[in-house]
Amino acid sequence: MAVRNILRIGHPELRKKSEPVPITEIRSAEMKKLIRDMFDTMADVGGIGLAAPQVGVLKRLVIVGFDRSDRYPELKEGIERKILFNPEIEVLKAPAVGFWEGCLSVPDMRGYVERVRKIRLKYYDENETFHDKIIEGFDAVVYQHECDHLDGVLYVDRLKDPTKFGYNDELDMLEANRTKVIV
Ligand code: ZN
Repeated sequence: MAVRNILRIGHPELRKKSEPVPITEIRSAEMKKLIRDMFDTMADVGGIGLAAPQVGVLKRLVIVGFDRSDRYPELKEGIERKILFNPEIEVLKAPAVGFWEGCLSVPDMRGYVERVRKIRLKYYDENETFHDKIIEGFDAVVYQHECDHLDGVLYVDRLKDPTKFGYNDELDMLEANRTKVIV
């Protein structure tokens, strides 16, 4: 088990654009170790997704995966464990959906963000298999949040209303602010 340090907002690496991973490197020992460490790191802090730049590696790699648990009672389902190399998102014409988003790089805080609820997602998995699929709903929000990290974008850049952002325990005082999602 190797838990890596998660960079927090303010660290300049989080604001950089990550490099694509050459297809020939997807199955390398270095990538296998990085993926293992990223899952260990995500499990350690109970996250839903993690992007490589969050652990200081500027490569276009994202992992997601979350088993439904009492920790997030508002989430009716988990998210299937996936490893995405060089993901590309095309936002489709669809209504926006709003969630209170958190981020492992912005600990103890959350903010309300609206994103389009339907995307086309293209990526290579850990076996070099190419995928091209339509994703909807909460999963689409998670992928958009994680892929933003690859371009140096954090959810705080996408707040529509700066008053809907703050520390979790302060926001919890208002019932309307309680739905919490950490991605
Ligand atoms: Zn994040």
